[in-house]
Amino acid sequence: MRVYDISIPITTAMTVWPGDQAVSLQRVRKIEDGDGANVTNVSLSAHTGTHVDAPYHFLSDGDTLEAVPLNLMMGRVYVLHLPDVSLITADVLKQAEIPPRTRRALFKTRNSDIWARGEREFQKDYVALSADGAQYMVERGVKLVGIDYLSIAPYQQSRPTHEVLLKGGVLILEGINLTEVTQGRYTLYCLPLNLQGVDGAPARAILVGV
Ligand SMILES: [Zn+2]
Repeated sequence: MRVYDISIPITTAMTVWPGDQAVSLQRVRKIEDGDGANVTNVSLSAHTGTHVDAPYHFLSDGDTLEAVPLNLMMGRVYVLHLPDVSLITADVLKQAEIPPRTRRALFKTRNSDIWARGEREFQKDYVALSADGAQYMVERGVKLVGIDYLSIAPYQQSRPTHEVLLKGGVLILEGINLTEVTQGRYTLYCLPLNLQGVDGAPARAILVGV
């Protein structure tokens, strides 16, 4: 059994969405200063690194994270490798031969190279899912989609793709690193922090080879 950790390391230097607060990890108690233990305060956006988007992120009457069932985030998943695509449209997906009855799909694109090369500057030209691609996934009965950069939607066109997915009952997993993973079937375990009343949360996400 091979385990792939597809979550991104959380550091103070990591790439965050433009305008989001940078990650802060501040050690406020220090053994070397005579404290009994080391203790770190953590401050970050709910959409830092590898994270899930709850419906409430784009829908003002949508569910917050605790209402999203964990079993959506665990189970069989298909990793679709799209190395030569700059926008994942419905046409791209129709030609991609996603297996029947796929309920979870992760898109491996050239975005994973951004993580692999350690690029820290935000990349605006990342590969994303178009609104018609999102609609296609909804119609196929997919319940979770994931992508290997910080948003499922094209830069500065966030709403259409997110809205189609979240209204269609599709949970979104963003900011995964699929560098080490090839196309095919895996088991996904994606466990966001149990934050209450929020629009999303950082998650540890792993794939297990089947
Ligand atoms: Zn997000």
